[in-house]
Amino acid sequence: MLDALSERLQGAFARLGRGGRITEADLDAALREVRVALLEADVEFRVVREFVARVRDRAAGAEVLQSITPGQQVIGVVHEELVAILGGGQEPLLRSEDGRPTVVLVCGVQGSGKTTLCARLALHLQRDGLRPLLVATDFQRAAASEQLRVLGGQIGVPVHAEDREAPASAVGKRALAEARRIGADAVVVDTRGAVALDDGFAGELAKLADEIDPDEVLIAVDAMTGQEAAAIAREFDEAVEGTGVVVTKVDSDTRGGAVLSVREVTGLPIKFITTGERLEALEAFHPDRFASRILGMGDVVSLVEKAKETIGERDAQEIAKRMQRGEFDLEDFLGQMRQVREMGPLSGLLDMLPGAGAMRQQLQIPDLDERFWRRSEAIILSMTPAERRRPEIIDGSRRRRIAAGCGMQPADVNRLLNQFRDARKLMQTVAGGKGAGGLGRLFGL
Ligand code: GDP
Ligand code: MG
Repeated sequence: MLDALSERLQGAFARLGRGGRITEADLDAALREVRVALLEADVEFRVVREFVARVRDRAAGAEVLQSITPGQQVIGVVHEELVAILGGGQEPLLRSEDGRPTVVLVCGVQGSGKTTLCARLALHLQRDGLRPLLVATDFQRAAASEQLRVLGGQIGVPVHAEDREAPASAVGKRALAEARRIGADAVVVDTRGAVALDDGFAGELAKLADEIDPDEVLIAVDAMTGQEAAAIAREFDEAVEGTGVVVTKVDSDTRGGAVLSVREVTGLPIKFITTGERLEALEAFHPDRFASRILGMGDVVSLVEKAKETIGERDAQEIAKRMQRGEFDLEDFLGQMRQVREMGPLSGLLDMLPGAGAMRQQLQIPDLDERFWRRSEAIILSMTPAERRRPEIIDGSRRRRIAAGCGMQPADVNRLLNQFRDARKLMQTVAGGKGAGGLGRLFGL
């Protein structure tokens, strides 16, 4: 996620960190690199220009340059200004306040991830204790309502879809009536997407919005389209008056132009980002945490939240405690591996840890994929319980037996044991607070 941009920015600041003293020329050189990095990330040029100017304004003063830690201060300014262009604070989903169901309208161009997003929002609302109804209004694509039915089925949310073509506004009206009938207190309305927003399409959306009077109008934009996403969001905002933006497919985006441009260009808050194919891959957008991730400071808060969500608060605390004490054994490793897989692709999780790039190299796991997990799992399952608890007893003959048991080579067993030891060491550092500013503290230890 945003790897290319992240690397470039960290590269630009690496020099500032070392020397101690920083001159204005050093600062300007770094900011030139930042500017190029942002432009290459496809951030809208006015956003880039203003961002760099603001950072320079604040960083060039004596207070920063003559401080004891000028490098860190400059990065601090960059962090704050990044937070500012990302929108400042987290903006939650708007709710109905007059007792009628909360109505969320999702719009955007074809393929921007609307239908998937609707299901994700329904799941999100459901987890918040609401009873949502999903509504299909897309008659353009033959399989559109079927797609929503299938997604609704996966999360146990009813879907209002009609078999005979009708104007979206008429379907919306009937869907609201159905919501009242079945006692749904949230309604998430999917719409068709056109390739572009022409007058006919804009009119259709405006009519739908008029009819259902949404509390929230979310514009879905695809992160992969870069700053074009911001221009598209602005067009939709003009047509239907949006209340927020959701940037989708951020997991596939290495550059970041969409996320970094859209707030400034539209004035609309980014309410969520989506970061994968799984329905759970919807994240409330926190500008400060996102800025930290871009600058390689990690996002331990999100990581911990995710862990708590997946494995439960108590287990998460227990694990953090064991990590801290360095008591983590291969039995835990196996259990963790299974739970971590529930949380989604590990590479995404690693990005939330400070210095993730370095860690990935240190662990020498180029690709933390399914294959890696399956092999590791097979090796651990081939060990005796005693070996899992005390890996140090694994000698040459045990190694051969374990390898034979899972159809691998003794060297594979060795590699896993080394990775386990490295991981344990790193976990201790992170959990102990040295690496992550207190993972233990965040778990409430
Ligand atoms: P729509 O045409 O706007 O309704 O878009 P869909 O919801 O049908 O999504 C289009 C494609 O994008 C589907 O294949 C989705 O699985 C995929 N997609 C949606 N969100 C994400 C995401 O966050 N990450 C990735 N990698 N793919 C996504
Ligand atoms: Mg769709």
